[in-house]
Amino acid sequence: MSKRVYQPGEAYDYQLTIGQLLETPKFYAPNQEIVYRDKLRYTYKDLFVRINQLANVLTDLGIKQGDTVCVFDFDSHRYLESFFAIPMIGAVMHTMNWRLSPEQIIYTMNHAEDDLVIIHKEFLPILEQIKDKLTTLKKIVVIADDGKMPETKLNIEGEYEDLLGKASPDFDFPDLDENTKASTFYTTGTTGLPKGVYFSHRQLVLHTLGLISIGGCYDSPTGLSVRDVYMPLTPMFHVHAWGVPYAATMLGIKQVYPGKYEPAMLLKLLLEEKVTFSHCVPTILQMLVGSPVAKQVDLSHWKVIIGGARLPKGLAKAATELGITVQAAYGMSETCPLVSISNFKPHMFEWDKEKQLDILVKTGIPAPMVKVEIVDPSGNPLPHDGKVTGELVIRAPWLTPGYFKDPEKSKDLWRNGWLHTGDVAYIDEEGYIQITDRIKDVIKSGGEWVSSLDLENLMSMHEAVLEAAAIGIPDEKWGERPMMLVTLKPGFEDKVKEEDFKEYMKKCAEDGKIPKYGVPDKYVIVDQIPKTSVGKIDKKELRKMYH
Ligand code: AMP
Repeated sequence: MSKRVYQPGEAYDYQLTIGQLLETPKFYAPNQEIVYRDKLRYTYKDLFVRINQLANVLTDLGIKQGDTVCVFDFDSHRYLESFFAIPMIGAVMHTMNWRLSPEQIIYTMNHAEDDLVIIHKEFLPILEQIKDKLTTLKKIVVIADDGKMPETKLNIEGEYEDLLGKASPDFDFPDLDENTKASTFYTTGTTGLPKGVYFSHRQLVLHTLGLISIGGCYDSPTGLSVRDVYMPLTPMFHVHAWGVPYAATMLGIKQVYPGKYEPAMLLKLLLEEKVTFSHCVPTILQMLVGSPVAKQVDLSHWKVIIGGARLPKGLAKAATELGITVQAAYGMSETCPLVSISNFKPHMFEWDKEKQLDILVKTGIPAPMVKVEIVDPSGNPLPHDGKVTGELVIRAPWLTPGYFKDPEKSKDLWRNGWLHTGDVAYIDEEGYIQITDRIKDVIKSGGEWVSSLDLENLMSMHEAVLEAAAIGIPDEKWGERPMMLVTLKPGFEDKVKEEDFKEYMKKCAEDGKIPKYGVPDKYVIVDQIPKTSVGKIDKKELRKMYH
């Protein structure tokens, strides 16, 4: 659909396209700031101009509707410009997880059929190494923070800033159908080849509205409002930084993009730019809470949504003691990602902080318009009694229609009209979901299921424990038995032994917090727990190491 001509009497056919998100900030926040590290600061007015310039650059380089543009950058203002310009010209934005292996990068770029890549010069050596194996890529645009083009044998179209500087600030964006594909990226799943998920304009717009409503309208301790200053701590390639850049832009919020994640830079930006709202996986929060600097600075204005993995109660407590407001949310690549958030219900508003913390670490209640169910292996719904567990299945306006060019895996994902998450959960009488495991991570001991996440959560509350990971290891008698790996908080190295952890977990079982058969037999103190490319505990790697 290009520009449409309307006849008298013909109503405007309003399409939920990404460009519509820019209407409000144009008049509401034209002078609001967007900051990139300590290198650049500009206003929303500049953002709008630069989106137009980028659209001109891309179309001048031959990008047409339906083509795919890969973005291969750290979190930056350029990424934000791409979030809008690429889909607004009708092309598909492929966000590259640069932590993938070169083979996986080749696979995903060919599979997504990337036509052009916008790549930070730090990643050029990877591209040089794999270029001959890329079957669809035609054009390369390089990002150089210092403006200097690197030496390379690759055929480069130009440097991003240079190209934008030469481009017209006006672009006549086409009228798009809201179902036009807008974005794609690949799951970080640890088995098999990466799987491509994809989302339309309509889905991203509805997701933005959903995100804003759960944060701004409900009683959400981390709620996002126009007074916030936003800095992502989840890479923008990971499920569009959970969709928050779209929401922040629509609200006209000050945005801070940290580039490559370097602890000193993150802390500097957090304090100097007065960041109030972030989101990250537990590992990042853990790193911050564990750093000695955190105790010396005021973090009491900082609200952080924790997702991507269960928020352990021990970590939530440690963050709260530093004045940080934390809250759990849940989603996955396939779900755009928002599914649920641990918001309070009206009768909980006045509860004391300790009792509220028990709510905040839950997987949460579904976001508006999201429908969840737990089902048995035949797809029958199970009771919501806070005990019975089953596979969590979802319906929402923003779920991936399937895996790109993979009908077989799509059949597994979508069954009976429900998206199957592969997560085991229970739902309580209040409607709160609690994820207890990934199906493939459940520990099966003597026919009983032991929740690895419950074990880790309990372990996180031991005073000496920094991080904990539970896995099942093969056992002749029981099939599998739980095993616990822990890293220690600084200063506890000589103070605790493996047996102390067993005693602690036994006591938890005596107190009824876990079943007796759930007490791990084996405890190993390690220096580090392996992580996936998005910073989650890598259970597959752990099983490889300890099986
Ligand atoms: P990804 O597609 O890489 O974002 O991974 C999604 C998976 O992360 C989900 O299927 C869950 O297993 C896990 N996950 C995300 N959020 C949570 C949460 N709040 N609690 C427990 N697991 C979570």
